[in-house]
Amino acid sequence: MLYPDVGRSRGTDYFLLHDELTVQERDLWTRTRDFVDREVLPSIGDYWDRAEFPFPLVEKLAALGVVGEGIEGYGCPAMSPVAVGLVHMELNRGDGSLGAFLAIQAGLVMKAIHLLGSEEQRVRWLPRLARLEAIGAFGLTEPLHGSDSIALETTAQRDGDHVVLNGDKRWIGNASFADVTVLWARDSADGAVKGFLVEKGTPGFTADVMTRKASVRAVWQTDISLRDVRVPAGNQLPDATSFKAAGQVLAGSRTLVAWMALGHAVAAYECALTYATQRMQFDKPLAAFQLVQEKLVSMLAEVTAMQLYCFRLAKLDEDGRLTETMAALGNGTTPARLAR
Ligand SMILES: Cc1cc2nc3c(=O)[nH]c(=O)nc-3n(C[C@H](O)[C@H](O)[C@H](O)COP(=O)(O)OP(=O)(O)OC[C@H]3O[C@@H](n4cnc5c(N)ncnc54)[C@H](O)[C@@H]3O)c2cc1C
Repeated sequence: MLYPDVGRSRGTDYFLLHDELTVQERDLWTRTRDFVDREVLPSIGDYWDRAEFPFPLVEKLAALGVVGEGIEGYGCPAMSPVAVGLVHMELNRGDGSLGAFLAIQAGLVMKAIHLLGSEEQRVRWLPRLARLEAIGAFGLTEPLHGSDSIALETTAQRDGDHVVLNGDKRWIGNASFADVTVLWARDSADGAVKGFLVEKGTPGFTADVMTRKASVRAVWQTDISLRDVRVPAGNQLPDATSFKAAGQVLAGSRTLVAWMALGHAVAAYECALTYATQRMQFDKPLAAFQLVQEKLVSMLAEVTAMQLYCFRLAKLDEDGRLTETMAALGNGTTPARLAR
């Protein structure tokens, strides 16, 4: 390979945010960054080509001890909102598929169980999910309802001490091998959307991996079919009694999406810079030409602005002052522009 190290981290931090971090935040950042350079970058391309899920990388990720999303207790590692963000940023710098996996596992499933579950459900699932001994999926989207998932049609019908689920879900990450799926369905009794835990192997639940994806190919999304799936009534998330509860979990993941986008932007900038300094044309590296330098500098300016933005969001979160609209002032378009 001509430029084997093109994806390796350059530790871009132009405004020295490193100085603002606690020892623990620096440690988590460095550990995740090294993991990405050492384990993810050398192997992820082949998984991507084969559209295969990188199970061995997930085992190694478990050993890093970075899955917990800042949840206190329940075997989750102590992580500030900044630390949580830095971990997501680094994983996404390495690969968006692995980043999506962590977002589902921690940002959606663990958060939903922590926020909306009973104490018994938390104790049963969170420690295993944090150690990646159990994998989670989050089933909200349906074939006919994506942006308007509030109109979802999957039904939940009470039958004695069980609830019977019927319907279809689409795009659901991890669900073909997940130990537990947080499943959103409409209660036939009162028409409200409620959340249920469906455990692996429950009869009537099938999840088929979607094929021919053009992006995030190393993580599996699935089409779920639910045909008379009986779950114990105790598997209902007690605080998920309306669509608001699903919205609460999704709102919490908005900052996370900003950090994920930052990871992609950093990768685009760093790859471009490394390549431009190594690639020789007209007997000079590309980076010696002013037109190329101008592009790199404007990329750095945008990356730096995004870093400050994400850092501030995390600090507001830590102080309990983050509002949903602040987080929603997202920066998803910047990474796409940088990548181009
Ligand atoms: C890689 C991947 C992983 C996913 N993982 C999960 C998962 O684990 N669990 C899960 O439940 N879901 C998952 N999803 C589904 C995701 O949440 C939906 O794709 C998303 O909600 C959008 O729905 P849709 O794809 O049906 O698009 P649509 O809702 O059909 O939207 C199509 C386009 O129309 C635009 N649009 C829609 N409504 C409006 C409007 N009112 N005004 C202006 N523009 C509008 C949208 O922005 C979009 O560009 C995943 C999707 C992807 C691609």
